[in-house]
Amino acid sequence: MSDTPGAQWNAGDTEADAKSHLLSPSEEMAKLGQSMRPLIAYGEGIHVVDAHGRRIIDGPAGMWCTQIGYGRKEIADAVSAQALKLSYNSPWYTTNSPSAELARRIAEVTPGDLNRVFFTTGGSTAVDSALRFTEFYNNVLGRPEKKHIIVRREGYHGSTSLTAACSGRSFNWQNFDIASPRITFISSPNIRQAPGLSEAQFLDQLVREFEDTIAKIGSDKVAAFLAEPLLASGGVIIPPKGYHARIKAVCEEHDIIYISDEVVTAFGRCGEWFASEKVFGVVPDIITFAKGVTSGYVPLGGFAVSERLIAKVSGENAKGSYYSNGYTYSSHPVSCAAALANMDVIEKDGILEHVRDVAVHFAEGLRSLKGLPHVADIRVEGLVGCVECLVDPSSPEVTDRDKKLGGRIDTHCFDLGLLVRPLGNICVLSPPLIITKAEIDQMIGILRQGILKAAADLK
Ligand code: PLP
Repeated sequence: MSDTPGAQWNAGDTEADAKSHLLSPSEEMAKLGQSMRPLIAYGEGIHVVDAHGRRIIDGPAGMWCTQIGYGRKEIADAVSAQALKLSYNSPWYTTNSPSAELARRIAEVTPGDLNRVFFTTGGSTAVDSALRFTEFYNNVLGRPEKKHIIVRREGYHGSTSLTAACSGRSFNWQNFDIASPRITFISSPNIRQAPGLSEAQFLDQLVREFEDTIAKIGSDKVAAFLAEPLLASGGVIIPPKGYHARIKAVCEEHDIIYISDEVVTAFGRCGEWFASEKVFGVVPDIITFAKGVTSGYVPLGGFAVSERLIAKVSGENAKGSYYSNGYTYSSHPVSCAAALANMDVIEKDGILEHVRDVAVHFAEGLRSLKGLPHVADIRVEGLVGCVECLVDPSSPEVTDRDKKLGGRIDTHCFDLGLLVRPLGNICVLSPPLIITKAEIDQMIGILRQGILKAAADLK
């Protein structure tokens, strides 16, 4: 492999360094420094290549982010040119050209009047900043008691203290102190948790619960509703049709800010720049984004907020206020240059149209797994989908034995050349958006074998 990008790499040194010094974002502490994740030497298109030169399909697109795939020269060139031209500028005192241009280009593709853009360093800081904006907004409007945030069980919004407290998966809370009295959880829009109800009945129940929750807290105290269009890390949970529009209407009635967390769904994952309006039928007040904005090449996140909200706290309505949410790396010129190049590639290669085309094939492929042993449910939207497995699929309850199934399938798939993202008993696929129909067939074929091998293990 002398011509390959990983040729000069000493895998032994990397393994020793990682075992002695790395603390990854997800560690089983009892085994710290003992077990080792597979080493990846380099990436190419939809593949990562391991230390032995084995090509593996990146089924989850990294962490739902490598939209245009690995090794794109356009992004590397844009990053290199910007680093040489202007590697940094203080977003407090000066403005750089890539961030101003990127703000305009994002505003051009957001729904409604979401035309003011704030840049952060990733998804957690994007959501954190959006929530802090709602605090700022209500304080300037003289409503200091309107601070409560309503979120959903099974949602995921990040790993800052505030965003972790808004995340409804208890797994993320283990051994951290992050409960907050001003956050209230309502039900996940997961119809599997409402056996016997039709989609329409379930939707009515969810909306009623939202209204009751607001009434209980007091609408003068509720600042924001925060929701992913589909709950990604919660297990690709797709809400009943019309859910977001119904919830938004209730928000409007009570002057509650609707924040759509599009950290996963934006930048093409569902075949649109943003999924809120065109896929899920809602125009939010604020949208957060990250991940796909740079296809994962460099860190960047942010939020876009409605001009209507901004007008209420700026100009003659500012009441002497000063917006201060200071990140050293806000509007980072190199990150913004990468994002502009990424948007250019998405446009030039027709990636949104491509996703809309191959998504049908992806959905058919995933649904073809329905009859396999232990497959209890298939959920899919655009190029994000999952297979939910249960040891006994006739009982919807998820046991500890079920929770090991995803890991088993993942291990078999990895040996066969596919990364999947196991979330307990759920296996997620959200491949790079450039994936072809033939590669989708290959990916689904491996997943099929992985499921059959995991089923054989249970016998
Ligand atoms: N919001 C959603 C919907 C996410 O899925 C994630 C990460 O997966 C985040 C926020 C946090 O983003 P980051 O990991 O870039 O901080």
